Amino acid sequence: MVTDLAYADAHCHLDWFENPEKVLADAEKKNVRLIVSCATSPESVSKNIVLGQMSQVECCLALHPSETQSLSKKDFLSSFSFIEENISSCSAVGETGLDFTHAKTPVQRSRQLESFSKFISLALANDLPIVVHSRGAEEKCLKILKQAGCSRVLMHWFTSSLELSQKAVSFGYSISVSPLLLHNSPVQRIVSEISLSSLMLETDAPTRFRGKESAPSWIPLLAEKTAELKNTSLEEIEKKTFENTSLFFR
Ligand SMILES: [Zn+2]
Repeated sequence: MVTDLAYADAHCHLDWFENPEKVLADAEKKNVRLIVSCATSPESVSKNIVLGQMSQVECCLALHPSETQSLSKKDFLSSFSFIEENISSCSAVGETGLDFTHAKTPVQRSRQLESFSKFISLALANDLPIVVHSRGAEEKCLKILKQAGCSRVLMHWFTSSLELSQKAVSFGYSISVSPLLLHNSPVQRIVSEISLSSLMLETDAPTRFRGKESAPSWIPLLAEKTAELKNTSLEEIEKKTFENTSLFFR
């Protein structure tokens, strides 16, 4: 069937794959035509700048919170400057945020907080949206973003409570859900309850789910589940989630 519709993967890490071209070709076979790839480490920043030049890829630049807690101040600052110099090549600042499941000590947490605050300022100064990782610190991340005056925010792999999800949506923030959606009932409840206009689908590929390496080609499965939960057509989910992702990143 010929269709103008297409799917979008709102968050993955193409640079973690050995052969990103094959991943993109597999995605295209499943009609996944917009793929957002996020940098995490100093090395992945350069790789994502290159990947972002492909027509179906939008790249995001920042350092992952779990990464920043172990970088020296000097290495952090040099990577931050490199991102700043190349800011025009990205569609959003990300992924940044807090991961308090990994940062247990006050020093690690304060490094993450410092990095998050610098990337928020970078996004605001360049009028760019921001992609936020908030594991174990969901409420804190929302509070920091709101206080900083951020309005274009994607809370990625958001698996917090329904209440916090609704709070994020009330701030005008979007939420992307991972393949956890396929089997996890609290995530399914969030998807059923929140407005489709605030929802995106992501794989966080190549993150493994139930022992299998994920890929952007999985997105139609997530869309099918979303259609079932929201009691609407697959086409409607495809159209809206693509539109939401495209408007946010393009
Ligand atoms: Zn990620």
